[in-house]
Amino acid sequence: MLPSVALVGRPNVGKSTLFNALTRTRDALVHDEPGVTRDRHYGVCRLEQGRPFVVIDTGGIAGQEEGLAGATARQARAAAEEADLVLFVVDGREGASALDDDILQWLRKAARPVLLVVNKTDGIDARAALAEFARFGYADSFAVSSAHRQGIDDLLDAVLERLPADAEEPEEDPGRVRVAFVGRPNVGKSTLVNRILGEERMIASDVPGTTRDSIAVDLERDGRSYRLIDTAGLRRKSRVDEAVEKFSIVKTLQAIEECQVAVIMIDASEGVTEQDASVLGAVLDAGRALVVAVNKWDGLSTYQREQTEALLSRKLAFVNWAEAVRISARHGSGLRELFRAIHRAHGSATRQFSTAEVTRALEIAYEASPPPVVRGHAPKLRFAHPGGENPPTFVVHGSRLKSLPPTYTRYLENFFRKRFKLVGTPVRFVFKEGD
Ligand code: GDP
Ligand code: GDP
Repeated sequence: MLPSVALVGRPNVGKSTLFNALTRTRDALVHDEPGVTRDRHYGVCRLEQGRPFVVIDTGGIAGQEEGLAGATARQARAAAEEADLVLFVVDGREGASALDDDILQWLRKAARPVLLVVNKTDGIDARAALAEFARFGYADSFAVSSAHRQGIDDLLDAVLERLPADAEEPEEDPGRVRVAFVGRPNVGKSTLVNRILGEERMIASDVPGTTRDSIAVDLERDGRSYRLIDTAGLRRKSRVDEAVEKFSIVKTLQAIEECQVAVIMIDASEGVTEQDASVLGAVLDAGRALVVAVNKWDGLSTYQREQTEALLSRKLAFVNWAEAVRISARHGSGLRELFRAIHRAHGSATRQFSTAEVTRALEIAYEASPPPVVRGHAPKLRFAHPGGENPPTFVVHGSRLKSLPPTYTRYLENFFRKRFKLVGTPVRFVFKEGD
């Protein structure tokens, strides 16, 4: 399970700047896809070394937000109360304010482990800035500049040291496809999971070793083995408090991290909402294989179906490599096709490549359309080799690769996708200068 770190602080101290610094550390691999909401309160920090963790920007802790923003802020505050670690962010230029004191009181009550982060210390005396907050009484305080990425590495070391050790994960069975059903509340996740578990004469068993929070169920279907990873849908809705259980973004991110194939459920009658796009963005960032399950198809008239088809293909154009399956969780229709799509996505995501076939694909793509000349220089692509699965990753060696435009990476992506018949999985390229 991913541990979680919450950023807490009054407005304008630089929380979202720090959030970006933490969640976009592997810039090269996280592309900006049009259609993905980047205005997020939740992200995952992935480091070259050290386990990933969820970062929560609690946004307006002041609590004056209304409507949806208020709901998000409330959820963020609740998440901070459950976070493994809180980063209390303050402004090193402005010094302590009354609002900082309020937050200090709140944090004492919340009783979570806290690191004090004194931000905006670029170009000022960091020690004096730290001293200004000494009366807060935190043993661990860090002077950083989120905007200039100064002090972030030391902060990250301290964060990693304080996160709980990796709990014992249930043993992984390589023959089992790990699937997570994710999506907003009320799209029909529990209905679907209950339908899947109920209709099949299969062996459904709670996987031993999982904690209360991490519920997984093993499933055999059409001669294949699956492990359904923790989602709200897996919880039995017998108890009242479970029935009203809130949509948990942290749990969604955790489920995405643990799965190989994420099935994002969308309510056909509501189309693709911002929250759907945000969950999709999390799947893309994690590089997981993706299947879109468009649920409640039964409730639509022919006219509505046509409208919905048009809307979906527009809104989901940025993930047009993913299969969208129309289902009705209520009636159990489309499930066979859904599992076929899961199987295909998993097959593509874990396909093994030889260096020879990858280099050959690169040569053909390069000859058909070499990269554009930038300021008199043309990037050269020499050879490629496989660099990992789930998602399939291709390492391309060459020269002047810094001037490769994103459109060219997209061209390579589409070319490789087509050539290797990859469906339902993101594809990544890593560019390496020289041999
Ligand atoms: P939030 O309201 O706490 O999320 O704060 P923001 O991240 O939106 O930052 C508020 C303002 O402070 C913005 O104008 C940022 O550019 C600026 N800022 C954030 N971090 C730094 C920093 O490390 N140094 C300086 N000089 N400015 C910063
Ligand atoms: P969850 O919050 O994502 O787990 O959603 P639920 O499974 O609790 O479903 C939310 C509501 O949508 C319930 O009232 C379901 O009966 C209804 N629902 C779920 N699947 C379907 C479906 O395929 N068709 C229709 N018409 N309603 C559905």
